[in-house]
Amino acid sequence: MSIRELDQTYVANTYKRFPVEIVSGKGSLVWDSDGREYIDMGSGIAVTSFGVADEEWQRAVIEQIGKVQHTSNLYYTEPCAKLAEMLCTRTGMKKVFFSNSGAEANECMIKAARKWAAENKGADCFTIATLTGSFHGRTLTTLAATGQAHYHELFQPLTPGFVSVDAGKIEQLDEANAKTSLAAVMIECIQGEGGVVPLDPAYAKALADWTKAHDVLLLIDEVQTGNGRTGALYAYMNYGFTPDAVSTAKGLAGGLPLGATLLGERLEHVLGYGDHGSTFGGNPVSCAAALSVLSRIDDDLLADVRRKSQWVYDALNGAPGVESVSGMGLMIGVKCTKPAAEVVTACIGRGVLFLTAKDKVRLLPALNIPDEALMKAVNTLKEVLAE
Ligand SMILES: *Cc1c(COP(=O)(O)O)cnc(C)c1O
Repeated sequence: MSIRELDQTYVANTYKRFPVEIVSGKGSLVWDSDGREYIDMGSGIAVTSFGVADEEWQRAVIEQIGKVQHTSNLYYTEPCAKLAEMLCTRTGMKKVFFSNSGAEANECMIKAARKWAAENKGADCFTIATLTGSFHGRTLTTLAATGQAHYHELFQPLTPGFVSVDAGKIEQLDEANAKTSLAAVMIECIQGEGGVVPLDPAYAKALADWTKAHDVLLLIDEVQTGNGRTGALYAYMNYGFTPDAVSTAKGLAGGLPLGATLLGERLEHVLGYGDHGSTFGGNPVSCAAALSVLSRIDDDLLADVRRKSQWVYDALNGAPGVESVSGMGLMIGVKCTKPAAEVVTACIGRGVLFLTAKDKVRLLPALNIPDEALMKAVNTLKEVLAE
């Protein structure tokens, strides 16, 4: 059997894969099993922050693999401790819990919020409001948090304690809070899977003020928007939020599994011995990779992400076949006059791998994508859209 046939026979049929078998890559280029070259505009969904097989990233990983690849959380390791310090120093958050994925980073954030609310506001205060159109993960609890009913239908009953509100409508928070005392509001600054939809800054400010006034926690899901993706280290920094907790994963370790839940002052001491745990979480190899990734996301790199973003906006705004452009930094959604899936398929045929998000073509290239590759990919998109 071919790899495609093997995969289709033996791998659970949860993914509709593109007809491309990727065998290797370098930076923002990947090669398939026929030796065809593609420009990678998806980075494995915002994961390979510095591209494929980046040398500096490889050195960090290989060095740690040669020392110890796993210890369990019964022992101290340097990469875990140093990464937690770096995350706290660069965000002002106080403590970090490490896991392996975005869903798990959100699970921890939800558990911390529930425990805080039970202890500070009473046992019947556990409900978390999330936004319509949000995406928070695939576990039963993060699915419940996800504000898109079509993900829920086949998996009832989901974890109780979540309510959906529409972005832009503060009065819906008042209504939800009157019905059942809210523990927290959980948001993405830019909805990723929901279609690259940024939060309106006026609503963001009103939301932050509302949570403060009502003693409700503000939880930010930075699984996709984090780690330099939007031109700030974390997207909440673009909005001037002071979150009580931040979750992140995808790009954090540049291609190895790692989730992190950052806890602010109010949640710093909420999790105690035995309250939460993970066998793989804080794995030294993933943490060494993340230390390497984060140490490269400095002011110069972030300025470069914003410069590239502006160039993409200028190139696509008003171009034939483009209805609108949304997003921040190198997390960009393009609403096209043609169906997004068709556009992505046509671009694959011309050697560029884009993603979709709802009805948009989504761009999530490596943060260090060379200008030339970025321009070539965007020009290919423009050609396909103009036809
Ligand atoms: C991808 C994503 C998740 C889920 O992350 P996994 O690593 O797939 O569990 C959660 N929240 C947001 C905003 C995401 O983009």
